Amino acid sequence: MVLRTRQSVVAVQRALALEESLACRWKSTSADIYKDVLIAGGGAVGCSLARLLNERLPSLSVGLLEAGDSPKPQPLATERVPHPRSYALSPASLDVVGKSVSQQLDLGYYDSMQVWQANSPASLTFSSKDLDIDKDPYLGACVEDGPLVEALWNEIQGKTQCWTKTKIASLESSGDSQGLATVTTTEGERIQSALLIGADGGNSWIRKNVGVSRSGTEYDQTALTFTVTLNESMHKRAFQRYLTDGGPMALLPTYSDRHAVVVWSTHPDTVQKWKDAPQEELVAYLNECLMKGPERVPSLLERQQSSNSDALSNILHGAERVLDTLHYGLAMASHHPIPKFFAPPRVEEIVSPKFSFPLSCFQAKSYIKGRVALIGDAAHTVHPMAGQGLNLGLGDVKVLVQTLEKASDAGMDLSTFLNEYDSDRRRNVSLSLGGIHALQRIFGTQNVPLQHAKTFGMNMIQNVGPLRRQLALAAAHGVSI
Ligand SMILES: Cc1cc2nc3c(=O)[nH]c(=O)nc-3n(C[C@H](O)[C@H](O)[C@H](O)COP(=O)(O)OP(=O)(O)OC[C@H]3O[C@@H](n4cnc5c(N)ncnc54)[C@H](O)[C@@H]3O)c2cc1C
Repeated sequence: MVLRTRQSVVAVQRALALEESLACRWKSTSADIYKDVLIAGGGAVGCSLARLLNERLPSLSVGLLEAGDSPKPQPLATERVPHPRSYALSPASLDVVGKSVSQQLDLGYYDSMQVWQANSPASLTFSSKDLDIDKDPYLGACVEDGPLVEALWNEIQGKTQCWTKTKIASLESSGDSQGLATVTTTEGERIQSALLIGADGGNSWIRKNVGVSRSGTEYDQTALTFTVTLNESMHKRAFQRYLTDGGPMALLPTYSDRHAVVVWSTHPDTVQKWKDAPQEELVAYLNECLMKGPERVPSLLERQQSSNSDALSNILHGAERVLDTLHYGLAMASHHPIPKFFAPPRVEEIVSPKFSFPLSCFQAKSYIKGRVALIGDAAHTVHPMAGQGLNLGLGDVKVLVQTLEKASDAGMDLSTFLNEYDSDRRRNVSLSLGGIHALQRIFGTQNVPLQHAKTFGMNMIQNVGPLRRQLALAAAHGVSI
């Protein structure tokens, strides 16, 4: 049965391939086009999939539809300010992007990430020293979206057929295990494919039109991002401080020694206020937030003193002193053997427009439907506090290509192992999303006992080598079970 299905699909594929070559010769006709894989969405994730398919499965015909224009050529690094739409990519993600593409990019490498928070004498430093230095000489690298997409786009030209300013107008069939996925584009072309990929971002048309729902939440937070100049180099460090409202403010290195990108997630009203405020005020506020080191946890006792008797108050006071000693002892112990706490460089000026994005955490209930697979933001969106959005999307690309290689090596239909892609990615992305969502809630708490617990937790992670190394590995290679 499987063999017969495979034979009939191959026969249809051959017939359509022949028709496609005729269509190419007679370009003005609107005859059917066949692609083994048709990708809708030419952002960083869609283009990375096309590139990896061209490299690993060169016999497949790949098409890509992009709603926008082709990427604009970027000015040289020396002639531009690093763009604030930048991503912190892990070494594993840079592998997916490919060496030839990364070599064209201006990367802001970092070998440590220091995380600390207001109201807590704890800090966490993830360092490349916690990784296998030969395999991962750095913890991550910041890359701008524009040059990344441009380099990927250039790389796939001549190997992937690309349509720009083109969307899917209608999806005739998302295919079942026997048929093909069939779409008509806004330019009137009818394209059939053995596999249709939704890489069309968080508002995915494909996800909605194949009827896959998603679950999750919109955060009452917006990310504000812009580029700043610094008084000195970042020394290959990335910084992230959780402010009292729980919103993380990150200072990420760029390829330029004197520029950094600020990504600050906070309440939408606060974002609006600072978008409208004079630059000098925002610069002063950034420095006030980022230059402060770890602080004392608010007192448990002050909140409860009035309602307690003297004896109870003494016991609580004593308990609090013990807790304080524990926190500070652990915080000081944590500076060995990894580096001490570093204050970030001083922000001098804001040198780019300010961009803001509403934040959400959503995951598609299924990553596949018939012959359709979802990747990147079309499958999941995530809070930028852990810088995992694009990393997770590139993880999808890697696993999807492995699944297609497996089918191709076995001489089977491309969709044969799609359910493995679905279960692998939903399981692992759920882990990441769950962890990031929990951290977002924990860091956002104003509850004093919870703040003590969180301080203790952070100090423990920092002190317990294997735990810290595990988290550094997760940052570099993603979470997997
Ligand atoms: C403030 C902020 C900071 C972030 N920082 C990081 C970070 O440090 N590290 C990280 O890993 N991630 C980060 N992210 C997340 C990251 O931006 C996204 O995860 C990533 O851009 C998703 O890529 P994508 O290709 O899936 O989607 P997109 O980049 O949204 O691309 C989708 C593409 O599809 C096209 N398209 C849309 N609809 C259609 C259609 N119907 N037909 C054809 N084409 C279509 C669009 O034009 C677009 O080119 C951040 C996000 C925010 C908001």
